[in-house]
Amino acid sequence: MSALIFPVPEPACGGRRRDDTRLNRPECRRGAGSGPAVTWAGAPPGSLHDRPHNRPRILPVFLPFAGCPTRCVFCAQDVQTGQRGGAATVVRALAQAEARLEHEARQMDGTGDIDKTREPDAAPEPGAAHGAPAPGKSPAPLEIAFYGGTFTLLPESERAACLDLAQRWRQRGVVCRVRCSTRPDAVTERGLADLRAAGMDCVELGVQSFDDAALAAASRGYAGSVARAACAMVAGAGLELGVQLMPGMPGVTPEIFRADVSAALLPDTAGTPPLAAFLRFYPCLVLRGTPLAERWRAGGYVPWPLETTVDALADGLLAAWARGVAVVRMGLSPEDGLDDAVLAGPVHPALGQLAKAEALRRHVAAHMARLARPPARFGVPRRLRGLLWGHANGLVGAYAAMGITRAMVHWRDDDNFSLE
Ligand code: SF4
Repeated sequence: MSALIFPVPEPACGGRRRDDTRLNRPECRRGAGSGPAVTWAGAPPGSLHDRPHNRPRILPVFLPFAGCPTRCVFCAQDVQTGQRGGAATVVRALAQAEARLEHEARQMDGTGDIDKTREPDAAPEPGAAHGAPAPGKSPAPLEIAFYGGTFTLLPESERAACLDLAQRWRQRGVVCRVRCSTRPDAVTERGLADLRAAGMDCVELGVQSFDDAALAAASRGYAGSVARAACAMVAGAGLELGVQLMPGMPGVTPEIFRADVSAALLPDTAGTPPLAAFLRFYPCLVLRGTPLAERWRAGGYVPWPLETTVDALADGLLAAWARGVAVVRMGLSPEDGLDDAVLAGPVHPALGQLAKAEALRRHVAAHMARLARPPARFGVPRRLRGLLWGHANGLVGAYAAMGITRAMVHWRDDDNFSLE
C-alpha cells in the first residue's frame, strides 16, 4: 500500500517572512550556525518553535502602562510582566536593560564570564533575554523588545531615550533588531515612518479583536476599522507586523475569535501574503486588581472554559498555519506572581501544547478522510514525540477513535506525517 504523505502545517520558524531582508540582516546572523538554538520570542522550550533558526534572542524591556491613555479592563501589565509600573518606569527599565547589554557585550568580547551552567535551551530567567548561549559560546546579538505599554504614545523624551539605547547598542553589535508594542489607535503614518527611520524593525499591535461590538464591550475605545487600518499602516511603513488577539475578551465569542483570526490574516487573495508576519493569542483571564475582576465578581463577565479556549485556539492555529503565519505565543508568560493574580479564566501551564496538539490531531484527521481504508501505520516527525498524544496523553483516546494507536506509530526524521 502506498503511503499518504503530508507535511506538518506549522511554518518552519517563528515568522513567515524568511526572505525578509530585515530579518536576515548580517548583524543578526553573527554566531548563527555555530551558536545556540535560540528561542523565538515567547516560545517555551520544547515547543514547535524550539529549533535553531535565524531569529535573534529577545531582550524584553518592560514598560508597564507607560504611554497608555487608559487602563484597559482586563490589563494588569505589572503582573503580566513581573515589573513594577509607576513613576520612573522608563528610566528604571532602561537602566536595567543597559546593565544587561553591558553584560552581553562582555560575553561577546570574551571578557565576561560565560555561564557554563545553563543548558542552551533552558527556560529564560524572568525578564532576561530569551534563549541562553550554549556553554562556552559567545552569544549572538539580541533583539530589544519594548513591551508592556503603548510605545507610540510615550512622551517624546522617553521614546527617544528608548530608541537611543537601541541605536547605541546596535552600533556596538550587541543588538541587531528592535520591536515595540502599541495600540491600533496610537499609530499614524508619520509616526511609523519616524520609528522606521529611527531603527524600529517590528511593531506589534494589541488589536485584541476587530469586532466593533466586542471592542465596545471591552471599552477599548476604537472600532474594528481603526484596527484594520493600523495593520495596513504598519506593514505599509515597511515594518514587520505582529497582531495580538484576545479570545474570550468581553464580547468575543468563539465565532468572533475565528473571524478575528481571519481578519488578522488579510488580505486573503491567492498569492498575496497576509499583512501580519506573526500572531499572538492571549486568552482573556480575570486578573486581580483589574476592572474586569469587579465585573466578574458582579456576574457581568464569564470567562471562557478551558475546553472552549483550546478548541478555538486549535482552529486559530490551523487558519494561521494555512496562510504560512506562525502563532508565536498562546497565553501569558508565567512571570512571578501571575498564578496568584489569576482569579478566573482558562489558565493552564501547557495551554500552547494543548492547542498545538489538538490542531495537529485535526490536521491528521482531515488527511485521513482521503484514505480509502483504515490506516495500518502512522509516521510522525520525531520532533513531535512529546506533543503528538497531547498534554498528559490527553489525546490518546481521540486518536484511538480515529483508528490510530501507539503500536501503529513510527518516528520519521523528516517533517512529514505519513499514513499507510
Ligand atoms: S493599552 Fe495595552 S498595555 Fe495599556 S492598559 Fe491597555 S492593554 Fe494594557
